[in-house]
Amino acid sequence: MTGSTRCPACGLQNSLIIDSRYYSDGFYRRRRECQSCGQRWSTMELPLETAKKLIKVIKLIKEADI
Ligand SMILES: [Zn+2]
Repeated sequence: MTGSTRCPACGLQNSLIIDSRYYSDGFYRRRRECQSCGQRWSTMELPLETAKKLIKVIKLIKEADI
């Protein structure tokens, strides 16, 4: 996961996902809104299963010593 679920304006972690859409390569782009100050920002998130697969691939590449 890249980007934070924490509000960039007030630092609180009470954000609400207002929009979630598939981006590419297994990533989801999410629009979040802070419930205390109304700040909106977007995050790029990778589902855990996709992340695990990616780690496996990285390991294989390392072992193959490319
Ligand atoms: Zn906030």
